[in-house]
Amino acid sequence: MIGGDVRAKAKGNDSGKDSLDFVGDHVAVNFLNTRRMLDGVPTDTLQSDEDVIGWMRKMDMRPPLVRKPLRPETLLRAARTLRALALRAVEQIKGGKHVQLEGLNIFLADAISYLQLGGRGRPLELQRVYLGRNARQYLAPVAEAIADLLANGDIDLVRHCEGKNCILWFYDRTKAHRRRWCTAEECGTRARVAAFRARRAAAAK
Ligand SMILES: [Zn+2]
Repeated sequence: MIGGDVRAKAKGNDSGKDSLDFVGDHVAVNFLNTRRMLDGVPTDTLQSDEDVIGWMRKMDMRPPLVRKPLRPETLLRAARTLRALALRAVEQIKGGKHVQLEGLNIFLADAISYLQLGGRGRPLELQRVYLGRNARQYLAPVAEAIADLLANGDIDLVRHCEGKNCILWFYDRTKAHRRRWCTAEECGTRARVAAFRARRAAAAK
């Protein structure tokens, strides 16, 4: 796949720049995780067109070329639609059900992109440039990452965090495939503390 590593690593995690954005360990899974629990409330972190653009930038996606500004809110609506389609497809595949692909294929069909050479020295850079003449087309890099996950990924390794009330997903790339948590600090620690308390309570009886 030309156009970047779909794993989209967190850049220099030290900034603390909302590392939950990257726990999915695959752009498509990170996209599902734009819905998450914040202070115990299911929250959509995509609330505006700018949120969508900002998220794509965070994932290292080069902004698609836009000639005319997109109509307000269309990008947000399309992103939420795409996310719902992706989530449904993941759940259908995991559940062994018939997978509805029409909606995702509409997004894919809208994509227009080409390769462009850049840079000065050796090696030259090869980058994929996307056009974003409408909201669906703008989201083509995201739709293609989703397609990559569904077609090339091992969907058994796409799992929910086991944290109580946590709705985050991750692509388990650990060697033994025993990853259980979005992050060890968030849900892992909380679960260990809860288990410790339960053991202590049981012992005190
Ligand atoms: Zn979690």
